Amino acid sequence: MRRKTIIGIAAVAIVVTTGLALLLSGLGPARPGADTSSAALLSRGACLNCNVLLITIETLRADHLKCQGYEDDIAPNICAFGKKGLLFENAYTPAPVTMPALRAIMFGSLVSNEDLLEIIAHYDRPTSIAAGLSKKGYITAGITDHKGFGDLSNLRPKSSMLIRDFDQFENLGKGRTGKTSADVGEAVEKWLEKHGSKRFFLWTHLFDPHYNWVPGAEARKAFDYRQEDCGRVMLGMDIEEIRKIEKDLSKQEIKCIEALYHAEVFETDRLVGSILRRLDQLDLADNTLVIIAGDHGEEFMERGRVGHEWTVYNELLHVPLMIWNPRSDSRGRVEEPVSTLVIHNYVLAAVDGRDLESPPPVVSRAFHYYGKNLQHPREFRTRPNEFSLVRDNLKIIYTSGEERYELYDLDRDPGERTNLWGKSAAGQELARELRQWMKENRSDADPATNEAIQSYIEMVERLKALGYTR
Ligand SMILES: [Zn+2]
Repeated sequence: MRRKTIIGIAAVAIVVTTGLALLLSGLGPARPGADTSSAALLSRGACLNCNVLLITIETLRADHLKCQGYEDDIAPNICAFGKKGLLFENAYTPAPVTMPALRAIMFGSLVSNEDLLEIIAHYDRPTSIAAGLSKKGYITAGITDHKGFGDLSNLRPKSSMLIRDFDQFENLGKGRTGKTSADVGEAVEKWLEKHGSKRFFLWTHLFDPHYNWVPGAEARKAFDYRQEDCGRVMLGMDIEEIRKIEKDLSKQEIKCIEALYHAEVFETDRLVGSILRRLDQLDLADNTLVIIAGDHGEEFMERGRVGHEWTVYNELLHVPLMIWNPRSDSRGRVEEPVSTLVIHNYVLAAVDGRDLESPPPVVSRAFHYYGKNLQHPREFRTRPNEFSLVRDNLKIIYTSGEERYELYDLDRDPGERTNLWGKSAAGQELARELRQWMKENRSDADPATNEAIQSYIEMVERLKALGYTR
């Protein structure tokens, strides 16, 4: 019953798109005999002077997409796009929380220091995608409804590095209780109509799948959310309210939370479909590199919580990554793990007409400096962080401070329940590799003299004076 309803809605969307669905029609699998390693496919990526459209979507779990094995079809347009180009089945975000995850995508870089001020210094050095493309004469714009990004006239400590390099940045966010991604979709389409004739880099980050979930009636019905069956779980419930009851949520209540999330993703997926169709209508699809990625996942009680940011388990790290490159013959599904960190180097190489030399290691880390009630930037210190590295089917997690390791075989144990640390020699090798990465990816800035750190401290103090507390 549930399935039928969803297919019904998807079918309506398909009828509307028929005739112009270049970006949404599947082309079938990769060429027979093709090398389907991520390195090989990404290396056939030259797209000289192509426009770049980067669509990142809040809180989108890869394993909840039908094209990644999920039962229901919560994102038909995104999956259709994935079938058209490259779909990375095992893509990982570098961080389970928005700002560090997107910063890593934008800069192609992840820092292993645990001190926030060192992290600030680190990102002052590499070139962002926006800065790189701006230098090549592209017009660069960002449009989002993530309120926390601020905008160019209101740079904020945690987001300034993310948006400062754009020529234009529009923020239509109203916070986590708002329902605003449709406004972003409309603004993106208008922007493409107005500026599509120039060489552009357009980034949009769609916020709606983030809690609090307030999907419309049609999507709620399609995903079987009925208030009378959902106990304490209410439409639009604040995450803080969920936290109060999460210790004894029933299975049915968890299903209701997931249904609200699915309905929000479904509505956001329609916006993505509409943006892609507009790109086709404007005859831009054959000279625009299009990338769709999730920023991080969401926990639905796998570790006793709802939400994100705390761990480096796959419910938070495994995200969709799909690439449409009009000039490349690389198509199909890639099984080999890849990090969304690759987006930065891939884009900058592609528009230069170059191949990507090799993808970065699949490293991720939690950022535990997020905390409330911090009085001074120097107190933005971290508690022990988790770091992870995935290679083939193995994933190692290292918790700093506690010197604790976990090792999982993701093929046999996708839920990461059976810790194989100490039972496999491959674990030692991965641990060495991860420690080496941590050593090589530290910032060595001196906080007393580093300009980025000093201006960050000034900014925080200025914001505090204006009444902001974080
Ligand atoms: Zn996020």
